Amino acid sequence: MANKVLILAELRDQQVRNVSFEAIAAGKKLAAGGEVVALLMGDSVKSQCEKMFQYGADRVVIIEDEKLENYTPDGYSQAFLAVYDKEKPHAIVFGHTALGKDFSPKVANKLKLGLISDVIAIEEENREFVYTRPIYSGKAFEKKVVKEGIPFITIRPNNIEALSKDESRTGEITPITVEINNLRTTIKEIVRKASDGVDLSEANVIVAGGRGVKSAEGFKPLHELANVLGGAVGASRGACDADYCDYSLQIGQTGKVVTPDIYIACGISGAIQHLAGMSNSKIIVAINKDPEANIFNIADYGIVGDLFEVVPLLTEEFRKLKAISS
Ligand SMILES: Cc1cc2nc3c(=O)[nH]c(=O)nc-3n(C[C@H](O)[C@H](O)[C@H](O)COP(=O)(O)OP(=O)(O)OC[C@H]3O[C@@H](n4cnc5c(N)ncnc54)[C@H](O)[C@@H]3O)c2cc1C
Repeated sequence: MANKVLILAELRDQQVRNVSFEAIAAGKKLAAGGEVVALLMGDSVKSQCEKMFQYGADRVVIIEDEKLENYTPDGYSQAFLAVYDKEKPHAIVFGHTALGKDFSPKVANKLKLGLISDVIAIEEENREFVYTRPIYSGKAFEKKVVKEGIPFITIRPNNIEALSKDESRTGEITPITVEINNLRTTIKEIVRKASDGVDLSEANVIVAGGRGVKSAEGFKPLHELANVLGGAVGASRGACDADYCDYSLQIGQTGKVVTPDIYIACGISGAIQHLAGMSNSKIIVAINKDPEANIFNIADYGIVGDLFEVVPLLTEEFRKLKAISS
């Protein structure tokens, strides 16, 4: 059983990402009463420690260095491996994010560890941790145990619930200095695609549009619904190929894999490649004119109708409900 777990915290816009709080929750489970240590690195990160403690971290190791402001494999490797050597953890948890997907195999290779990526659940059976991960684009699941070396996992966002925030909780900050040098690449500039501000892979609600949306303009009512629900807008590849929206919104086998609490598919037929990216959503709502559309086979709620009539009605009703509850 593990007793010290090291998790890699990630920042976006200088704020800790939700997946890092979920990683702490996963870490707590693996620590089995032991210590969860979060590593936070960047130019100036100390202000983010408080939140990490409130979500369950026992200690936060911080490395403040302008060379770590953006992720580079060289810089992060030097920093992470220095912390690993110092802390000697019994398990490691990263988020299965763009950064985590790129960085974790490099770390696993350097440490000669196995890596269980894209974990969606952790259970304890016969005093052993069992990690569940989807395979074949979500059509099946495999359960893995670690037989040699320490567990090193990446967790899929939105699957392992973060602990409830406890504002009274505090912890220890361990600042360390690591000499970062010989960076073979540096980031000169990050050009952000326009977005609603809610990260698709971490959104609790996603309103996704397909070719049935018919134009870029047709996405407007979907954005309105997503705004009211505090969610993000996604798309099928059909909609992206037709140039109705940017490819950064694509969900599916060759796009993003998402698991929101609510997925509202509007004018999406439900091709197998699309389902690969969203079929593990907790509640699926489908709006489609065609009652035979495949998306209805996996939907929890199906609305047969014209999305241009149904979506504004939903937006209006949710707006009213929000006004009553606030
Ligand atoms: C290798 C490979 C990888 C792929 N990867 C992906 C992927 O990652 N993601 C992905 O999405 N696809 C992917 N595809 C493409 C996939 O096979 C489908 O072509 C695509 O998902 C279809 O998009 P769609 O459902 O928006 O369009 P369509 O299949 O054309 O469906 C449009 C739907 O809109 C409905 N509709 C039309 N008008 C309205 C209206 N007014 N109101 C309500 N409903 C309406 C129609 O009834 C229809 O069901 C991949 C394909 C291949 C070969």
